[in-house]
Amino acid sequence: MKYVDVVIVGGAVVGSAAAYFLRAQTGFKGSVLVVEQDFSYEKSATARSAASIRHQFSTPENIRMSQFGTQFIQNIGDHLTVDGEAPEVGFHEGGYLFLATPAGRDGLEANHRVQRSLGVDVALLQPAQLQERFPWLTTADLSAGSLGLSGEGWLDAHGLMWAFRRKAASLGVAYQQAQVVGVQRAGRSIASVTLSDGTIVNCGQVINAAGTGAAELARSAGIFLPVQSRKRCVFFFSTPARLGRCPLVIDPGGAYFRPEGSGFICGISPPAEQDPECFDFEVQHALFDDILWPTLAARVPAFEAARVENAWAGHYDVNTLDHNVILGAHPEVDNLLFANGFSGHGMQQSAAVGRALSELVAFGAYRTLDLSALGWARVLANQPLLEVNVV
Ligand SMILES: Cc1cc2nc3c(=O)[nH]c(=O)nc-3n(C[C@H](O)[C@H](O)[C@H](O)COP(=O)(O)OP(=O)(O)OC[C@H]3O[C@@H](n4cnc5c(N)ncnc54)[C@H](O)[C@@H]3O)c2cc1C
Repeated sequence: MKYVDVVIVGGAVVGSAAAYFLRAQTGFKGSVLVVEQDFSYEKSATARSAASIRHQFSTPENIRMSQFGTQFIQNIGDHLTVDGEAPEVGFHEGGYLFLATPAGRDGLEANHRVQRSLGVDVALLQPAQLQERFPWLTTADLSAGSLGLSGEGWLDAHGLMWAFRRKAASLGVAYQQAQVVGVQRAGRSIASVTLSDGTIVNCGQVINAAGTGAAELARSAGIFLPVQSRKRCVFFFSTPARLGRCPLVIDPGGAYFRPEGSGFICGISPPAEQDPECFDFEVQHALFDDILWPTLAARVPAFEAARVENAWAGHYDVNTLDHNVILGAHPEVDNLLFANGFSGHGMQQSAAVGRALSELVAFGAYRTLDLSALGWARVLANQPLLEVNVV
């Protein structure tokens, strides 16, 4: 029977980041196997993401993780070059612009104070300043806007995932295409994982990086993980209008849009009562027709002529407690580490979370960024570490 020191379940951006950081961690010499059920990654959140990174969160941990993410991406060639070839992830530092009506202004200012205290390069703009910078924007109903001046933007998320994977493989990580159908728990530890072909892999530690498959994996270890799969749709539209410089804009009601190639992408979370756990990939076109189009056309009159060219659905792994990742071991099982419940911001956190997981495996504690606040304790105590800036 095979033995591996660390089995990582799920080999998309988070699993592959963890694999890379583990191998790059000088304190760790063990073997690593990534088990991924679909090497096409077609249905993974990573491949279906809006691929953007921001520092404008309300929770210090989220801000710090994204700051590290930007740093990592800006210097990706120093970390993930393989055989002299540096990965190209096309990072475009376009910024985020959060807009607020008078009702949302206090919240925007409170977030601004937290962000500035952590060195985020962000400016609070009055409506007249917004109008001057973005003449295509309707500002009549706005009270302020928060604009990221550097460090925020968008990139090729699929490219980032493959860059982690290639580098991890070049450092000796094994990848196997198979589904993990369960883990075998013996008291306080996981002894082995079972693959769909019946193979049993004995292991020292397991990392759950299974995205929307994470709760099922946790269940097989007798653990309830409060993470659900929730559908999110992205619409690519064209418009004859040329806006000039355009950041990723978040309207006060939560709709977002940003430039993508020759057009724009946009999306919005469905109303809570229409947002059940869901695993299908059917695009909810009514979201565009009934909510997005009227909202965007009111905000940017040039979008009146928007035409949807393409659309897709993916799934957030939503942490139903507080919309933040659940990171690290459950108190009842020592060697099963979780990295789940990203709730729509996992791509940008993959580098920080991968590094954090590698520290937990190698040293049993965080060595760089202390992410203990994102552990199981707050989940089991039912004390949310609420992120208010969820897009
Ligand atoms: C529409 C949309 C827009 C988004 N926009 C952004 C954004 O702009 N910025 C951002 O930072 N994040 C964004 N996200 C969120 C981000 O994509 C995810 O948080 C991130 O990709 C999570 O990565 P992951 O590796 O944990 O999960 P996934 O990418 O879902 O990967 C999980 C992997 O595990 C595999 N797996 C599952 N179960 C098993 C099993 N039992 N055995 C073996 N393999 C298994 C799956 O095949 C999959 O490849 C968005 C997500 C969506 C859906």
